[in-house]
This record gives sequence, structure tokens and C-alpha cells, in this order.
Amino acid sequence: DIQAPVALAIEVQAEAQAVLMPRTSGLPDELFQHDGQLTKREIRAVTLSSLAPRGNELLWDIGAGSGAIGIEWLLADARNRAIGIEPRADRLQVARANAAALGVPHLDIRHGRAPEALAGLPTPDAVFIGGGGTEPGLFEAVWQALRPGGRLVANAVTLETEALLIAWHRRHGGSLLRLAVERASAVGGFTAWRAAMPIVQWSVRK
Ligand code: SAH
Repeated sequence: DIQAPVALAIEVQAEAQAVLMPRTSGLPDELFQHDGQLTKREIRAVTLSSLAPRGNELLWDIGAGSGAIGIEWLLADARNRAIGIEPRADRLQVARANAAALGVPHLDIRHGRAPEALAGLPTPDAVFIGGGGTEPGLFEAVWQALRPGGRLVANAVTLETEALLIAWHRRHGGSLLRLAVERASAVGGFTAWRAAMPIVQWSVRK
């Protein structure tokens, strides 16, 4: 069939241009709407690995931002549940739009600030602290709410939050990780590494 190679070429070209929806965590940043407050792909992949979603589990995503962590938690298993807390109404709308666009409209994003907004929520199997880490009483409220054996993961960009994570690690153990990602990008006619802000991650089991 003389048409077959042409059809195949068109198909291959279409596939090369289509958005890739991988089954692993760490979706491309381009799949999310965001205003810059997005856990970037490589950090997100490690963060989901640390949160260790299994199935039929509840995540609290504190500082939901664009919703990316809660979304990838839900994508990991159809029975998972996630509650996001976000004080900025504009980001809350973006997070809901991202969740709908990526096929997990059941992401339950609530408007509010931690720790106040955590009162009365169902017991989580895992908690991610991506924002609000320096709020007085936040860590204590999360630690108390977490079920025994549950996982807590917190990412720090600022030295102030990092200092708290170091103190919590000293008290409760777990592991501290520093992630520094660099990407090659154009500098004049050449190419150089551009560093993203490093992230300190503390993860621990209760
Ligand atoms: N994990 C998100 C990005 C988080 S950026 C993502 O991948 O999309 C940190 C977020 O924490 C911001 O959106 C900020 O509004 C929110 N935040 C700040 N203080 C907070 C608090 N006390 N409680 C809940 N969220 C808070």
C-alpha cells in the first residue's frame, strides 16, 4: 500500500507533538497553570517518592499553591483522597482548574491558613508542608493529627523554614535531604548551567 508510509509518518509526527502524560510522578511543569508557585518537576518527583502514596490514603497538602502535590498524590491511586489548604483565593482557583484538567476534580482544596484551617479535618495518612511552615503551632498541629505510622514531608526554600526543619529533625529523627537542580540553558551563543533555588526536605514517620 503506497499510502502506508505517509500515514505512518503523520502518526509519528502527531505523537511527537502530543502532550506526554507519564504514569510516574513528576509531570512536566507545562501541564500546570501556575504563577511561579509550583513545586518544580524534579523536586516534585522526589517529594511524591517521599510521601509514598499507596492506595486508599488521605493526604493533607498544606500550602497547596497550584495543587500539584495533591494532584500527583491522587493520580497515584484512584482511591486516594487529598485535602489542600491554600489562603490565596487566586491560587485556589488555579489549583481547582489544574485538578479538573488533569482528571482529578475530587482534589478537595479549601480556602484557609494552617494551622487554623486544619481543625476538624479527617486524620491524614500523610502530610505535605509546602507553605506556612513557619506559622506558630503548625508543626505541632500536624504531628498530633497524623496517624501513628503516617508520613510527614516538609520542603523548605528559605533559611527560616530550613532552620525549623533542622530543629524538628533533631527532635523527631527521619531524614534531611538537600536537592539542588541545575538546567542547561542558553547564555549568548553558548550553554551554561542555571541553578534553581535549593530545597531542603525533611521526611519522617510518626
Ligand atoms: N506545593 C505547591 C507550591 C507551594 S508554594 C505546588 O506545587 O503547587 C507555598 C504556598 O503556601 C503558597 O501558595 C502560599 O500561599 C501558601 N501558604 C502560605 N502560608 C500558608 C499557611 N499558613 N497555610 C497554608 N498555606 C500557606
